[in-house]
Amino acid sequence: MAARKRIAILGSTGSIGKSALDVVRNLEGLEIFAISGRSQIELLKQQAVEFQPRFVVAADDRLSEEISAVDFTGGGATELLVGRQGLIQIATAPEVDIVLAAIVGFAGLESAMAAVQCGKQLALANKETLVVAGQLITELAVQSGTQILPVDSEHSAIFQAMQTGQQKEVRKVVLTASGGPFRSAPKASLGAVTVEQALAHPTWQMGQKISIDSATMMNKALEIIEAKWLFGLSADQIEVVIHPQSLVHSMVTFTDQSTIAQISPPDMRLPIQYAFTWPERVAGPAPEMDWSQTYQLDFSPPDFDRFPALKLGFEVVEKGGSSGAVINAANEAAVDAFLKSELSFTDIVTACREVLEHHNFEAHPSFEQLVAADRWAREEISRWIAA
Ligand code: NAD
Ligand code: MG
Repeated sequence: MAARKRIAILGSTGSIGKSALDVVRNLEGLEIFAISGRSQIELLKQQAVEFQPRFVVAADDRLSEEISAVDFTGGGATELLVGRQGLIQIATAPEVDIVLAAIVGFAGLESAMAAVQCGKQLALANKETLVVAGQLITELAVQSGTQILPVDSEHSAIFQAMQTGQQKEVRKVVLTASGGPFRSAPKASLGAVTVEQALAHPTWQMGQKISIDSATMMNKALEIIEAKWLFGLSADQIEVVIHPQSLVHSMVTFTDQSTIAQISPPDMRLPIQYAFTWPERVAGPAPEMDWSQTYQLDFSPPDFDRFPALKLGFEVVEKGGSSGAVINAANEAAVDAFLKSELSFTDIVTACREVLEHHNFEAHPSFEQLVAADRWAREEISRWIAA
């Protein structure tokens, strides 16, 4: 790679964060400037000792007293920051070239937005940022002249395939979906799904929230919305196809009907690395396809009846405005309630639809209005559960 790139990881203790550190471990030319985590303080300390970053952020203000006693330096010059302000500080530090947004959920929006605002290249794993505030974020990126590079494997695949043609030649994108653990489960069985069953994803090892989203297919709904903002697409330019092997990560169909696919074993280190090294490609830790074995690639249309979340994704793409913030918050609150066994699996999406249908639509929401919509939708889910 040409110049050394300094990276700030928002959410280094999560599934994406750990994969990102492994990429840095294996590549010349990348340096960790800052890391952050919320609750896994012991892991955060280990990461700090290994990578010797300039800053470590303990993102939970409530832990500040316990944390100030932890030695994050490992003998080096690491400085500890605490809470929201610390996240903003590392996302906007002048020394940083790339910010990896790998916090889960709405909690990742503020720091990702700060990074875009001050012109940092944003490697975006936190899809919720674009679901909630796609309009604002993409406008800010244009103003600050920065690039948002997708880390989500589907969007990385689309981004890579797009480079074989021009924007005006794109007819549609095809998002692949594994179908999750209940791809072939009968509809009647879904109401009784347990937390443990829903967390057991067949092809990907991920954080809890995205694992549940994959089981309801709300993850694909969020990715439909994410694709709209990343690539400037309308609802009729986005299609979803079930592909259980998770080898084709997504496809782009051009006006001449040529479809370009990106293929690699399911491993997030590849899309993370590409967001770090773009526009270059270098050798890294991701595994290779083994063409001495037989692969089968299956594709089939999704079942909107068993997975009604998918319809919500297309509806939100069409409506825009505050509907992204509402669907995202309703889903976060509903997933939380499901994980605490306060809500059944199928009620996650039912509750999200009800909340979306009852909200006070705002066509051009400000950041404050998005925050208010987020709060309102979470309260609605609580009321829905209590009713
Ligand atoms: P995770 O739960 O494993 O990790 C989340 C990280 O965010 C942790 O470092 C945690 O400490 C931090 N965090 C959580 N809540 C926080 C808060 N309130 N304030 C500050 N920090 C907080 O999640 P993950 O699976 O790594 O996913 C991260 C993001 O990447 C999500 O938006 C997810 O949709 C997206 N993503 C993940 C994968 C994957 O393979 N895991 C793939 C594509 C996209
Ligand atoms: Mg994905």
